[in-house]
Amino acid sequence: MNPDEILKQVSAETAQCTKCELHHSRKMAVAGEGPPQAEIMFIGEGPGFHENQQGRPFVGAAGKFLEELLAQIGMKRTDVYITNVVKCRPPGNRDPRPEETEACDEYLERQIQAINPKVIVTLGRFSMGKFLQYAKISEIHGQPMRVKGRLIVPMYHPAAALHQRSLRPTIESDFRKLPDLITMAADIPEFKEETRGNEPEPKQLSLF
Ligand code: URA
Ligand code: SF4
Repeated sequence: MNPDEILKQVSAETAQCTKCELHHSRKMAVAGEGPPQAEIMFIGEGPGFHENQQGRPFVGAAGKFLEELLAQIGMKRTDVYITNVVKCRPPGNRDPRPEETEACDEYLERQIQAINPKVIVTLGRFSMGKFLQYAKISEIHGQPMRVKGRLIVPMYHPAAALHQRSLRPTIESDFRKLPDLITMAADIPEFKEETRGNEPEPKQLSLF
């Protein structure tokens, strides 16, 4: 299967998935959207009310802000791939539980493998936790890290910046690093499956 076919297959499977409790609260699964050849992948937390209604990620207030942040660096949402750690809406927008993110991780992994993005931006602590278990977002936001061969840039969730206005300049300046990071990431050797698991502890790049 080519990347486009894999992404479509993942979408089709999530629509029918019953691997965790969250399938009870979904109206529509939200697998993700964007071009299969996207250089940047954004990973949020999970669908909210509007996403659950429409089956599309980041279409509410946080999505509008994400689009503004992208526009500030000359990008459109159609340039990037956008998804979440869980594909079905947690009831009342509660936090996803460990067993739910674990059950859903298979889909996210297949999406990452298919797209093979140069940069993965984690939005909020749940997606950061997939790559960096013990990190504190207040300490490492905006800092690129190589984790299991992938360039990860942890960022605050746009919804957090909407609730806490003081985070706004922070998330804006973190976004401004992305164009350079994409250029820099091109010089980094391809991810190789056999090196997986043998990677040393996450290394912080010293460029920023
Ligand atoms: N918040 C998220 O984390 N994901 C969405 O898709 C929408 C809001
Ligand atoms: Fe399946 Fe993920 Fe939905 Fe749980 S959240 S039912 S694992 S698609």
